Amino acid sequence: MTDWYSENWYQATEKFFKAASARGDLRWCSADNHAFDIPYVKIGNGPNKVVINSGVHGIEGYFGSAAQNMFLDTFAASLPRKLLAHYTFVLIHVINGWGMQNRMREVMDTTRGGLVDLNRNFGVDFENKSALPQNPKYNIAHDLLLSKPDKIEKKNAIKEFRSQHLKDGVWAAISNGQYVHPYGLFYGGAAPMTENKMTMKIYDEIMQDAKSLISIGLHTGLGHFDRKNGIVSSDLLVSHPKNHKKTKFFDNVFSRTNIVHDDKAINGPTLLGDLVDCLEARYGKKVPVYTADFEIGTGEFPIMSPIFKRMDMGDARYDLLQYGKINSETWSNLTESWYPSDQKWRDAALRRAFVMYAELMYYLAKRPVLIRGIR
Ligand SMILES: [Zn+2]
Repeated sequence: MTDWYSENWYQATEKFFKAASARGDLRWCSADNHAFDIPYVKIGNGPNKVVINSGVHGIEGYFGSAAQNMFLDTFAASLPRKLLAHYTFVLIHVINGWGMQNRMREVMDTTRGGLVDLNRNFGVDFENKSALPQNPKYNIAHDLLLSKPDKIEKKNAIKEFRSQHLKDGVWAAISNGQYVHPYGLFYGGAAPMTENKMTMKIYDEIMQDAKSLISIGLHTGLGHFDRKNGIVSSDLLVSHPKNHKKTKFFDNVFSRTNIVHDDKAINGPTLLGDLVDCLEARYGKKVPVYTADFEIGTGEFPIMSPIFKRMDMGDARYDLLQYGKINSETWSNLTESWYPSDQKWRDAALRRAFVMYAELMYYLAKRPVLIRGIR
């Protein structure tokens, strides 16, 4: 399984390019400055589109890329012709190339300043500044998160903050997205980023003749990793309440995967500017659209993991703002907490992705899809 992982964006893109060219119609979406173009491949020619995207968050490393390369070498090699007449499978490889190469969750906004989380930048109307989504609860946590790194005091302060603000929604609001602090956490930006525009261009092209869309993003971070036994949790995040028909759709498809629904999303999205809600808003009026994010767990300490993750992100920003670069210890903490270097984790993450693909293919074909060439 190690063959499917890469060490840098160039290697990952070359692997994807080779495997994808052999399986389908490989295309490129070019960046304005030709720095990090986005390759994608279409397999089949059915009107129902099944899209798997990866690399929205650079800090999550090469799991998504590896999972896509695995799909190309296994499932894609033996998809039944009938299935390919009904469905088009599209893999969009590494949306955030800069973040991947620089191991940052976000992209740097070199024009306006700030670190922009692409998954808070989709579908936001930046023209009308006064109508930007508001998240005042985030402001309460901002100073603490961006305070001077301190292993013991800062950790305890964040822990205390979490226990104080678990019930009033402030802790949850940290990750919902905000448009006020350019170097704050989960900043959604001040304009659509290049990567955001490229992604929508790709989806628009895919959706031209579409009768339906299933779109799944590959992510890591949320959930647990049992290092001793090499077991990872996996959740499929669906941005609707439990009984919503879209949540039930994923319940039907993925019986072995934990479906995490968003009970707060009754009148609108809880997460601001995320891709899944953007896709539903953009295409959902014309055709059925089912979108979710697949999350592989990386937290070794179930309770402390979200605290460490927020702290590591805040520390990295402190370092960047004060010293212009991230301290090596902060760096190591940050990268390990989102994309563990542990081989057991990497193997387990791919095994979970394999099960996800198998369940999806079973649902689409209404029978198991046999795999050729499994290593
Ligand atoms: Zn992510």
